[in-house]
Amino acid sequence: MRTLLADHPLVAHKLTLLRYVGTGTAEFRALADELVTLLAYEATREVRVTPVTVQTPVAPAQGVKLASPRPLVVPILRAGIGMLDGMTRLLPMADVGFVGMARNEDTLMAATYANRLPADLTGREVFLLDPMLATGGTLVTVIEMLAKRGAATVTAICLLAAPEGLKRVDEAFPEGSTPAVRVVTGAIDDHLNDKGYIVPGLGDAGDRLFGAI
Ligand code: URA
Repeated sequence: MRTLLADHPLVAHKLTLLRYVGTGTAEFRALADELVTLLAYEATREVRVTPVTVQTPVAPAQGVKLASPRPLVVPILRAGIGMLDGMTRLLPMADVGFVGMARNEDTLMAATYANRLPADLTGREVFLLDPMLATGGTLVTVIEMLAKRGAATVTAICLLAAPEGLKRVDEAFPEGSTPAVRVVTGAIDDHLNDKGYIVPGLGDAGDRLFGAI
């Protein structure tokens, strides 16, 4: 696995506002949306393109277009939904799949409750959206589902990551494994507490995006 820390003052500024306990739901959603678009810019740096020629008003110009098959964007429910608009703004032509994962708060184990993924992902580039890379259990489970379907690359976009989660994903998908796995994140925090929350983190991302239900 490769890790890309988006080391940018705008990302740091927006993340600071996102973390602040006094930031309400509406502002939190707007910040998460803006952050995803900034992280997506980094995450799509290696997206496959093919050469094309277009006619300008003056002369033919060499350019590129996104290669086939189209990328697949997969938000991990529930909190990943808060990242979908920001991602599809940059990749409007991408297909979108969904995986629902719920964490058992006692065991911290992730269980799948929804799966709308294409059966065949051979050769496809997949962008996973999950705001918090905490224990890494959810991400490893979903990447295994994508690997079974033949995904070529998986890039996980996470607003925040814990060192424990990065280590777990790296152990499951070391460099050279298939699919090639990358994590793009806005910050690597200090540690996980005994409830599996990222410290200092931002609390429960799903609750802050959509309210505690
Ligand atoms: N999920 C969250 O929403 N927050 C954390 O800190 C860890 C997992």
